[in-house]
Amino acid sequence: MTAFLGMPTAPRGVGHLRGSDPFPVAARRALADSQLRRNLSKATTTIRAKRAAVVAEVPDWEQLREAGRAIKAETMRHLDRYLEQLEAQVEARGGTVHWARDAIEANEIVTGLVRAEGATEAVKVKSITTDEIGLNDALAAAGIAAYETDLAELIVQLGHDRPSHILVPAIHRNRAEIREIFLREMGDVDPALTDDPAALAEAARLHLRRKFLSATVGISGANFAIAETGTLCVVESEGNGRMCLTLPQTLITVMGIEKVIPAWRDLGVFLQLLPRSSTGERMNPYTSMWTGVTPGDGPQNVHLVLLDNGRTAALADETGRQALYCIRCSACLNVCPVYERAGGHAYGSVYPGPIGAVLSPQLTGIEDNASLPYASSLCGACYDACPVKIDIPSLLVHLRARHVDEARRARRLPSAEAVTMAAASWVMADPGRYAAAQRAARSGRALSRGGRIRALPPPLSAWTRARDLPAPPAATFREWWRSEHRDRP
Ligand code: SF4
Repeated sequence: MTAFLGMPTAPRGVGHLRGSDPFPVAARRALADSQLRRNLSKATTTIRAKRAAVVAEVPDWEQLREAGRAIKAETMRHLDRYLEQLEAQVEARGGTVHWARDAIEANEIVTGLVRAEGATEAVKVKSITTDEIGLNDALAAAGIAAYETDLAELIVQLGHDRPSHILVPAIHRNRAEIREIFLREMGDVDPALTDDPAALAEAARLHLRRKFLSATVGISGANFAIAETGTLCVVESEGNGRMCLTLPQTLITVMGIEKVIPAWRDLGVFLQLLPRSSTGERMNPYTSMWTGVTPGDGPQNVHLVLLDNGRTAALADETGRQALYCIRCSACLNVCPVYERAGGHAYGSVYPGPIGAVLSPQLTGIEDNASLPYASSLCGACYDACPVKIDIPSLLVHLRARHVDEARRARRLPSAEAVTMAAASWVMADPGRYAAAQRAARSGRALSRGGRIRALPPPLSAWTRARDLPAPPAATFREWWRSEHRDRP
């Protein structure tokens, strides 16, 4: 295990976190979809209002946020110690712990475990970590069918789609679209199905009930893992998780290593922060916890797969590691003006929105998601909303600087921007050169209309493609000063 944390590892061979198109290209495409924008605006406005109401009820909300942040910071400082403690406690209570450096290793471990049970199907609790490693595809390639049981994940799976929100993966779909997907993909659905939400939920319930009763393997993620006892915790709203965690004989949990927390008392802080920040509820309906194996009760084969997949690389960056504090509540997505307009798919990552913009580039290496740290107006709404006070705007700026530095090191020739900046620095370092440049710029007045220049010739045309330029003044400040003071002593 020490070797596991001893050297930062980058993910190997899996493209699920790597965006297919850079954010600006994908966002432009998404902006043309007015139905998507309507769906997103309606959903995020509703969740924002619910969250604001329940947060306002808590007089010590700011102290809770501070406590959450402090626990996460302490955990990251001693992550190796807490992970070893977690491993020892899970194994002491009859569970088995596996370590996966990357997606390939994690998928091999899970596939091997399911095969060892002789199973050809598994029921799944919603887990972004398994989306991150592309587990469903890996299982399918091995002839194992994985059934998503969270309603939104089921919609995404049946629609052959990708999640676009951490909490509500099908947020980009409206109920008419969901009805169409169910009618098309669920072989056992009533053809008279309406788009009434209760009818859609009932159709999903009937469809899934058969899977719950037949599957011998359950697969989950984990919201928290308590090092002092080896207890794993999943919070959810629908009860599907409780079924997956209790009915099958074998339970496999895939968890990012950053989800460990030191002690039970810490869980109390997060169970107050998470539901209010995510679903806007005082408490989520189902909180399931299990500690190893309980003979004769629930799964008798309990496995925990601890996943790195780029997390130790993020941990090695003392500023960037803040992204590992995330408890996946999605509050930052719901307040982000960029997310609300572009939607989750534009981020090309299973982690969309502001947290995706700072987490994904660190997990994959910045070059593979270089456009994401720029996918923000730096308005700061995400920082205000984050229950563990991750300073996302500062992280975005930090990652932009890292990207620029890495790009500079990788390039043999300086970029056009670097040449321009060097030239500007040379001009501004000498008053004579600066005055000459100002006189030269005055010729630009010929291009102006109404005091604005709307189009410059190439290569400066890139600047005016999205903005006007004020026309240079007829006289510089120095010329004006001299003419004003010409006759004074
Ligand atoms: S960064 Fe903060 S607000 Fe965003 S999902 Fe993570 S914990 Fe929630």
